[in-house]
Amino acid sequence: MVSKDKACLNCRSIYFGDKCLNCGETPASETFKGRIHVFNSEKSEMADNMGLRSEGEFAIKSK
Ligand SMILES: [Zn+2]
Repeated sequence: MVSKDKACLNCRSIYFGDKCLNCGETPASETFKGRIHVFNSEKSEMADNMGLRSEGEFAIKSK
């Protein structure tokens, strides 16, 4: 059993398991391009550009 990481389609958070740990939504994609790790969403320009408001690992592009 291999648990693949998925990208939440709602908030783009990358997570393992049954549902998104960030927002609790279940729609997710296993096909995503790139990932960023946000340590400080308030000071991260990239996080700001992507509209990310929390820390964690996020998919740059998912479909
Ligand atoms: Zn989510």
